[in-house]
Amino acid sequence: MSDESFELKVVDVVEETADAHSISFEVPAGAEEQFAYRPGQFLTLAVPSDRTGVAARCYSLSSSPVGGGPLTITVKRTADGYASNWICDHVRDGDSVRVLPPSGIFTPASLSADLLLFAGGSGITPVISITRTALQQGTGRIVLFYANRDERSVIFAEELTRLAAENPDRLVVVHWLESVQGLPSQEQLKAFASSFTSYDAFVCGPAPFMKMTIAALKELEFPRERRHQEKFVSLGGNPFGDLHDQEVAEHEIEDAERDEDDAALDAAANEGRPQGPVRLEVELDGQDYVFDDWAPGTKLLDHLESKGVKAPYSCREGECSACAIRLLEGEVKMLHNDVLDDDDLAEGIRLGCQSVPVTDTVKVTYH
Ligand SMILES: Cc1cc2nc3c(=O)[nH]c(=O)nc-3n(C[C@H](O)[C@H](O)[C@H](O)COP(=O)(O)OP(=O)(O)OC[C@H]3O[C@@H](n4cnc5c(N)ncnc54)[C@H](O)[C@@H]3O)c2cc1C
Repeated sequence: MSDESFELKVVDVVEETADAHSISFEVPAGAEEQFAYRPGQFLTLAVPSDRTGVAARCYSLSSSPVGGGPLTITVKRTADGYASNWICDHVRDGDSVRVLPPSGIFTPASLSADLLLFAGGSGITPVISITRTALQQGTGRIVLFYANRDERSVIFAEELTRLAAENPDRLVVVHWLESVQGLPSQEQLKAFASSFTSYDAFVCGPAPFMKMTIAALKELEFPRERRHQEKFVSLGGNPFGDLHDQEVAEHEIEDAERDEDDAALDAAANEGRPQGPVRLEVELDGQDYVFDDWAPGTKLLDHLESKGVKAPYSCREGECSACAIRLLEGEVKMLHNDVLDDDDLAEGIRLGCQSVPVTDTVKVTYH
């Protein structure tokens, strides 16, 4: 990923609320193709750090890819967080920030689908991008449930009011304020969603909000393919691999921890692994690939990349689901999984970046 990073110039900074800033970037000439994006995708920023050299953090694009506006992210301060506070305190017009191009799969397959959107706090960022884009390019109805601590923390309040007024037949925004209504319960979320069970659901926000909303959608039997979630977590690793000095510093800090982790991962990778090379069949973007030399202990994504296959990925740490695959035959073991739940696993979904083979033949699809 390192050779894909770009220095982007900051062209605007807007204070959306007391603790959220929107930052707009200019895409360098010649990099337009790399920075084309779908609503719901995110950028990865290299935030400078005296301690580790770089702290890599993902921020969803709040802008829309249609209409010609600049690429914009919206960052909300996390209490005691490093990168979010650094960005809000330091990033100003004219600065440059090192960025990896857009990535992620929290994006509607059709902009004309009816959309049921749930956002909690800063979870509004990919959701407003989807809303802005679907209103411009799609034809479906959009229902947005937007939960916040109080009125002052509502990001994009004015714009949402305007969009709802301009699109009365297509957009309904329901604000839920903790200061007024308390935290939404699973029962309340379920009651709300129950009128929209044919819609495509997208959920983004703090972990407890996501957990309850997803549980409510499951109770209502939203199928997996109409239940999308984006988890806001901080990356542990550094995908800006060419920042060698910084990486060395980071390694020194985390050495002991890493040794323990590596030993545990090696043990997990070795446990129950096949004796010889594995046959791998992959369906990806309408193409079929067959390889007879998948080495046990090698992760699926790494193996595909070694064969020149451009398989999707983002965090490479088992913390997002950009590399999700579905097992058609055989079995794999994931070395780390922070995102798939029991239902996903039962449906055969696995993370390509963390999967090593446990059977002699494995067949997967990226659909
Ligand atoms: C796909 C995706 C999209 C996201 N989109 C958004 C978004 O649109 N808006 C948004 O606000 N957030 C978003 N996030 C969350 C965002 O990436 C961060 O997790 C969030 O901003 C918190 O980061 P933080 O560094 O401020 O806080 P933390 O990650 O909580 O910071 C604490 C961590 O930083 C380390 N740390 C402390 N000091 C230093 C230092 N000097 N150098 C290095 N590390 C240090 C600590 O060890 C600790 O691990 C998204 C996350 C994902 C995965």
